[in-house]
Amino acid sequence: MHQFSEVIVMTEIVVDKDACDGCGECIAVCPESVYDFDDDGKSEPVNMDDCSECCSCVEVCPNSAITVDACE
Ligand code: SF4
Ligand code: SF4
Repeated sequence: MHQFSEVIVMTEIVVDKDACDGCGECIAVCPESVYDFDDDGKSEPVNMDDCSECCSCVEVCPNSAITVDACE
């Protein structure tokens, strides 16, 4: 049985691919390089662990396609 001294709560980031138009604003604004383009040219959170919960991506997205649970 493993014992954890610390509970790590990961930020959950969801991109609504139907709403995303691939403008790349979130990729440009994110200071932690959390996002990259997926094969369809939409934004994909690829480094969720690095999110500093600054909420810039949520604010910058013109289509309100991004949900960051810490930014609710
Ligand atoms: S909240 Fe900030 S650090 Fe986290 S994914 Fe969005 S822009 Fe990047
Ligand atoms: S800012 Fe919004 S619409 Fe633009 S790439 Fe990011 S998620 Fe998609």
